Amino acid sequence: MNYVIIGNGIAGVSAAESIRELDGSGSIFMISDEPVVPYCRPMISLVLEGVISPSKLPIRDSGFYEALNITPVLGNRVARMDVDAKILFLSDGKTLSYDTLLIASGADPRPIKAPASLPNIFFMRNQHQVLKMLEALPQTRRALVLGGGLVGFKAASSLLHRGIDVTMLIRSGYPLSLQVDEIAGGMILAELTRRGLNVRVGVEVTGFKGTDTVTGAFLSDGTEVSCNLVIVGKGVLPSVSFVPRDRIQVDLGIVVDDHLQTSCPGIFAAGDVAEFMDITRKTRWVNAIWPEAVAQGRIAGMNMAGRCVSHKGSLSRNVIRIFDLDILAAGWVNVPDDPRFTVLSEHNRRLNTYRRLVFEGDRLIGATLINQIETGGILTAMIQNEIPVRVSKRKLLEPHLSPKSLMF
Ligand SMILES: Cc1cc2nc3c(=O)[nH]c(=O)nc-3n(C[C@H](O)[C@H](O)[C@H](O)COP(=O)(O)OP(=O)(O)OC[C@H]3O[C@@H](n4cnc5c(N)ncnc54)[C@H](O)[C@@H]3O)c2cc1C
Repeated sequence: MNYVIIGNGIAGVSAAESIRELDGSGSIFMISDEPVVPYCRPMISLVLEGVISPSKLPIRDSGFYEALNITPVLGNRVARMDVDAKILFLSDGKTLSYDTLLIASGADPRPIKAPASLPNIFFMRNQHQVLKMLEALPQTRRALVLGGGLVGFKAASSLLHRGIDVTMLIRSGYPLSLQVDEIAGGMILAELTRRGLNVRVGVEVTGFKGTDTVTGAFLSDGTEVSCNLVIVGKGVLPSVSFVPRDRIQVDLGIVVDDHLQTSCPGIFAAGDVAEFMDITRKTRWVNAIWPEAVAQGRIAGMNMAGRCVSHKGSLSRNVIRIFDLDILAAGWVNVPDDPRFTVLSEHNRRLNTYRRLVFEGDRLIGATLINQIETGGILTAMIQNEIPVRVSKRKLLEPHLSPKSLMF
């Protein structure tokens, strides 16, 4: 069997390892346009913050490929594919054929409308981009961060930790609006503002100022912001430019079934590029998070190697520490105003804690905890395993829970 994996992020790595567990002799090729060993992508913000060195990023060393008898094809991009001939066309002109293919190409930063070609305007998706930011930091006094999603939020807090004056532009009114509700978002915003963040809500960049390097940005309300570094963190889009949409179903991401197989037999997709059934929403969703990429890659790899394994459904979940706030968000948090949902919350302003739970019938489907997040593991497991709530729903709001106390 000839296995080919596009992408050597965590989804690709997890797939390769599970293929090799089940098939010791098939050939495995891993292609990536990044010319480096697999690394921990979420930790690139810690490099920007200065708390870890880039040498701490790799999750596998250079012996990984040899140990698993994998042929790496690094620094090369899949430009297009022919699914009938089962051939990939690479950017260097070479071709690679496959019997079974995994697309684990991750995601690309969502582009912005304003032309962003000046030096010191960065997207923040990979190690290379962050290393370039580090080179620019000594000259950086004021930074502008576009977007308050996970990446924009992490970029802003990393720069604040470095003592840089940061302005963040947020369309939705508060950071992490996909992960948390308005009250939690307000608490996060208050913490960031207390640490010196300037926030502008409801405005966009219409253009950038500067000749040799960026010196400022023009905003949609007619004002200007001066800055000598810009980080664009306006979310991500699945990386599907090379995927033939007439042969492989693509919605926002590549649509996969519960074996992580695409609409084209023999071709699988996993990680940030894949769109799979969300456990809480009961609809297809792209949950672009690390643990989901691990799980999907592993299951895709097993199915590629011939073992029939199903994925139950994907689940959004995140634990983040930002200055003095611990934040846990799991599942579907911002549900529509509909009687089928019950929302319970408790906000203690004195202790600066917040707990908000969302139920659909007797199922917990969403949880947001700020500070006192110790029960997050139990709550996330209840969401993930769709465990019916047999005790009073209010009980789940308590800051201390034991699995035993949930028995009826
Ligand atoms: C700054 C930042 C902070 C984050 N923080 C968190 C967090 O706190 N918690 C969390 O759960 N998740 C976080 N994430 C998201 C997490 O990193 C991703 O969900 C995870 O890395 C996805 O893994 P993947 O293997 O699907 O894709 P990727 O890691 O993106 O790997 C895909 C690889 O494929 C390559 N590729 C793409 N197209 C091609 C092509 N055509 N040819 C060849 N190679 C190609 C890409 O360059 C890349 O190397 C964060 C991400 C970023 C950027």
